[in-house]
Amino acid sequence: MITIKIIEKTIKLKIIPLTRTDKNQLLSLLNDYTSMIRESLGIIIKNDVRSRKKAHELCYKVLRERYPHLHNKFVQEAYKRALAMYRSYRKLLNKWKRLPEKKKRKISPPSLPTVEDNKVIELHADTYRLERRHDFLVLTVSKGNSVYLRFLVMEYSYVRRELEGAKLGNSKMLVEGDDEVYLLLTIRKNVEVNEHRNKLVIDINEDSIDCLLVDYDRNEAVLFSIGHDIRKIRTNYRRIRKSIQKKVKNLSIRDKLLAKYGYRERKCVEDRLKKITTLLAEIARKYNADLVRENLKDLRLNVRKKSKQLNYRLSTFPYRKFIEYIDYKFYERGLSVVEADAKKTSITCPICGYVDKRNRVDKETFSCRRCNFIFNAQYVACLNLFSHSDDGIVAIRSGRLFLVTRKTASVVAVNVAPDEPPIEMRWLREKPVQVSKILIITKR
Ligand SMILES: [Zn+2]
Repeated sequence: MITIKIIEKTIKLKIIPLTRTDKNQLLSLLNDYTSMIRESLGIIIKNDVRSRKKAHELCYKVLRERYPHLHNKFVQEAYKRALAMYRSYRKLLNKWKRLPEKKKRKISPPSLPTVEDNKVIELHADTYRLERRHDFLVLTVSKGNSVYLRFLVMEYSYVRRELEGAKLGNSKMLVEGDDEVYLLLTIRKNVEVNEHRNKLVIDINEDSIDCLLVDYDRNEAVLFSIGHDIRKIRTNYRRIRKSIQKKVKNLSIRDKLLAKYGYRERKCVEDRLKKITTLLAEIARKYNADLVRENLKDLRLNVRKKSKQLNYRLSTFPYRKFIEYIDYKFYERGLSVVEADAKKTSITCPICGYVDKRNRVDKETFSCRRCNFIFNAQYVACLNLFSHSDDGIVAIRSGRLFLVTRKTASVVAVNVAPDEPPIEMRWLREKPVQVSKILIITKR
């Protein structure tokens, strides 16, 4: 069955103002835009505005009168940004209010948002267009009042591929300096997603992504694990944040430092997420396999219950982001995503279905208290997710592990594999993403 999915992605492109006038117009636009954010932020804070509607009522007319030369979409984007800043401040404030009194005395409340050195201009889809002129890509921004700013877009060959058949969404301009201007272009694409019988089952953990690749075409399957250092990165930055909060007394310096390290942490984690998800999607593409992953809804339900353990899990690994990235990468390659029930997958016996915390003897060993099935604990959740995905069951025959499929009735058995990953990925061998502990399940 073929379904159409819409995928969205942002690409960063260097742009160069075509003339000196374009450059000056850009700087004056940035200046005006920043003032508009500052003014709307003032109005929003003063009136404790929380809804888009209210922000529009109070800000739009005022700004429109003061900046009549600007395209009205810039006015809208400016107060929208101010509102978003105020909302995230309120979120932090509420979080702080909920702290116990003891902690409140140590940690000062978040400071009100300010606009100091803004570098970003939101570009509503109505305010810009991209055109090819004599084989050059040119960005035209409509500033308002019939003033147009033109930029040459530095284009790489992959960008040309990405732009084919893509729709352009609301984007951003990033002004790092006079000669460093970027376009953060949002593109939307319709992709055809097919269903495949081969499956890549993944179990997402704080230190590794454990995988089961079931390849019905070749009648073999592989159990492997991708280790990563995301938890280490996060613990590290948490330590840095704590020490900043403790040692730096000057509020504005403290906020700046926190923002700086927060940015670095996000970049670093994002880089890892991209590497891991690309690797998995490339493996899946090579084997024509759909993704089987845990259901995100379970995650959300648990959060509402405020389970301590789950909050810890969420704080050590960005599950939502990971799932967002991996789904995107699979859809982009025309591969489907199947959600499977992830409840108790680490303590359930994949053979007899017996659920018991004590089945999990330690980090390495799983030993079923009912049927005596013993296996590497790391991969038990994968096996359970496989059987939850409705593809087949996991069974033991003459002392060996098999996957028995429901649809094709094929039987796939377990073997220890040579020490090779299921795909050539020299570019990932370097730390910090490592593939290890490969087991291959093959037909006997
Ligand atoms: Zn059992």
